[in-house]
Amino acid sequence: MKIGVLALQGAFIEHIKMLRSLGAAAVEVRLPQDLDDLDGLIIPGGESTTIGKLAVQYGLMEPLRSFAAERPVWGTCAGMIFMAREIGLDQPLLGVMDIVVERNAFGRQIDSFEVDLMIDGIAESDRPFPAVFIRAPRLIAVGRHGQVLARLADGTAVAAREGQWLVTSFHPELSDDGRLHQYFMHMVEAQKVAV
Ligand code: GLN
Repeated sequence: MKIGVLALQGAFIEHIKMLRSLGAAAVEVRLPQDLDDLDGLIIPGGESTTIGKLAVQYGLMEPLRSFAAERPVWGTCAGMIFMAREIGLDQPLLGVMDIVVERNAFGRQIDSFEVDLMIDGIAESDRPFPAVFIRAPRLIAVGRHGQVLARLADGTAVAAREGQWLVTSFHPELSDDGRLHQYFMHMVEAQKVAV
């Protein structure tokens, strides 16, 4: 199994380390041809405006959309923003997933925080996942083909899945819990068998 991590900006190295520690081959993606032999792709956290601008510059927008039409893609934090259909702001988006997202949804005072989060579908799902939020976005709406996988105590949706697409508001690569990466690897494996 070979998984790419979009390496234009942001926390891509941590995703690569986590994937390798779980036994997947992981590579950095910067150019359209880097997508050619991948089974899945992670779009990391960082700054969504920068990631979008660079993706346009590198001619990656259409190749990423075609890739996502067929293969599993997981967007974390800025990656979730980049995958969204609608964010109410003018910046380059892939727009592949039917979600509405609000950027920087937790205000300036609470720039970053960590919570124990219950996430549907991961291994040992009755054990909370240590979720690190950094100037994080939240999900405002998830389309009818999607499902919310995790909510904060106040009901705010922070993880969702729609078919081969996964999004999380937080940074799972910054904790040492590999269960979400494992979950994504199962999605990739399932898609490989199906194709
Ligand atoms: N606030 C960033 C954005 O709007 C996302 C932050 C992150 O990825 N940690 O793109």
